[in-house]
Amino acid sequence: LHLFIFFHLPHPTPTFAMSVDERTYIMVKPDGVQRGLVGNIIGRFEQRGFKLIALKLVHATPEHLEKHYADLKGKAFFPSLIQYMASGPVVAMVWQGLDAVKTGRAMLGTTNPLQSSPGQYSFAYGTIRGDFALAVGRNICHGSDSVESAEKEIGLWFPEGIVQYTHDQAKWIFE
Ligand code: ADP
Repeated sequence: LHLFIFFHLPHPTPTFAMSVDERTYIMVKPDGVQRGLVGNIIGRFEQRGFKLIALKLVHATPEHLEKHYADLKGKAFFPSLIQYMASGPVVAMVWQGLDAVKTGRAMLGTTNPLQSSPGQYSFAYGTIRGDFALAVGRNICHGSDSVESAEKEIGLWFPEGIVQYTHDQAKWIFE
């Protein structure tokens, strides 16, 4: 009987695991800043319907970046990654919205930009890395890869906290 009832229950939709308030840490890397892509990248997240809840320009120290990339410490490219990330200012941001971590990663594209699709037309967006980058070591933008790492990264880059405000568009973006 239990099996029978279970079988006929409506399937829970995957939305139960997603939060409208999910936060992700997005960072325009030094090459993205130097190439004038800050506005374009911010525009994509705004246009998608995410809420900007933190933003600043930072020239990070190698020590700070080593904390950010602590999981990659053993990799051969780690020293050059830290050098690249410390070579100029980055734009540190927190964006909030439905499934922000996974959607943010999808908007970024693959780690290696060569594997990311570019937009098909000049007016259509592909992924950030697919549209603007070629090399894995110059891939323009960072995005948290899990909710746990997002919270860790937000704490690392914004120890001063996050501004609270009402996003008036939300009622037009969410049901
Ligand atoms: P992602 O940024 O897509 O989450 P990773 O966390 O694996 O990717 O790596 C962090 C960053 O390290 C990448 O965005 C990229 O800038 C750099 N990186 C990753 N793999 C390589 C590599 N094989 N050679 C050089 N740099 C790399």
